[in-house]
Amino acid sequence: MKAVTVVGASLAGLHAARGLRAQGYEGRLVIVGEERHRPYDRPPLSKDFLTGEAEPGEGLGALALTDPEEEAELDAEWLLGVRAEGLDAAAGEVRLTGGRTLRTDGVVIATGAAPRTLRTPDLTGVHTLRTLDDAARLRAELRAGAARVVVIGAGFIGAEVASSCAALGLEVTVVEAAPLPLVPQLGEEMARVCAALHSGSGVRLLCGAGVATLRGTGRVTGVELTDGRVLPADVVVVGVGVRPATGWLEGSGLALDDGVLCDEGCVTALPNVVAVGDVARLAQPGTARTVRAEHWTSGVAQGAVAARNLLAGSTVEPFGALPYFWSDQYGARIQFAGRREPADTVRILEGDTAGGGGFLAVYERDTSPTAVLGVNRPRSFTRLRRELARAPQPAGR
Ligand code: FAD
Repeated sequence: MKAVTVVGASLAGLHAARGLRAQGYEGRLVIVGEERHRPYDRPPLSKDFLTGEAEPGEGLGALALTDPEEEAELDAEWLLGVRAEGLDAAAGEVRLTGGRTLRTDGVVIATGAAPRTLRTPDLTGVHTLRTLDDAARLRAELRAGAARVVVIGAGFIGAEVASSCAALGLEVTVVEAAPLPLVPQLGEEMARVCAALHSGSGVRLLCGAGVATLRGTGRVTGVELTDGRVLPADVVVVGVGVRPATGWLEGSGLALDDGVLCDEGCVTALPNVVAVGDVARLAQPGTARTVRAEHWTSGVAQGAVAARNLLAGSTVEPFGALPYFWSDQYGARIQFAGRREPADTVRILEGDTAGGGGFLAVYERDTSPTAVLGVNRPRSFTRLRRELARAPQPAGR
């Protein structure tokens, strides 16, 4: 390969680019990114960045994922503020905004995901949170006299935003359509424990509540629920999940189904096109399932695996890392690792779920551990996560 194009200049794209160079690729390396920024870290955007005292400056500061020395070593051409509009893999071309095309032998798709939105009137004061620019806009409004915040969606991002707003002293209501948030990720018992963190910090959580529309003229003034209640709001944050950013791949011939379909080594049906990070949907060896992870660590680890398989011309290494994510809410560090299924049981190993001191829980299938959850138990969680990664995984049901 003489030229590789990485589309998406963020976490997974950067790690794929690093992986290519680490494995001896010396050809042309182009990184195309729609955002004007160099790669930066997203997890702090819903946490410290919102609550932080320091004004976000022009540079990326502590959010930066690269430094000048590393960028020089990477020896890549950065096309930032430029969108890829299409891929013609047979012709070896990536089409960019403005009609320009890039000739390329290999492609890394790393375009991540974009927030879902609601079909509601277009009003100021309504935010989604994915990018640094989104976070800077939200942060500015939270500090410009907002008193009441309504967060729509109690997933991890919604919960973290609610927690940050509460830490800023704002009155926060979280609206969740499901009877209980986070059940698909944590199961009902542990989801209930995490949902209680909201009320423990004075945040109102309304479950089973649908949003009918937003109120306001020009600027949002409230959220109207389907049961007729109106929640007054100066700022509304919509955190109702994401859609993988695959629009630019329509017509490319690649299989798209809530992500770019890949084998277990991040390779698409075309051996010179790989996909990594939030946009990639990977086959699960030994099952008919496919999985798309929206976790920081998956984005990092898939980059190296995809780079190896792209250079090899076929999958020589599967991506087998145990799924892992963390979330920081209301002073609690929540950590989860493993592959739980709905029928798995859960057992508390340390601490208790009622007190504020944290706990460690293990999920089991036929007495074999499948996943581990820790709340403020980083050391024992890490030990169990390592053990779980080494153990053979029990068969799925
Ligand atoms: P992204 O980071 O989304 O990057 C994709 C890039 O591609 C973007 O810059 C986008 O602009 C660009 N792009 C899209 N389309 C095009 C195109 N057509 N042409 C060119 N460029 C394009 N994970 C955890 O495990 N723990 C956490 O606590 C946590 N907190 C988070 C908090 C927030 C606010 C967010 C948004 C995410 C958080 N995550 C967390 C998830 C984690 O950040 C993501 O899994 C990770 O960013 C995925 O990296 P990625 O490179 O695949 O995608």
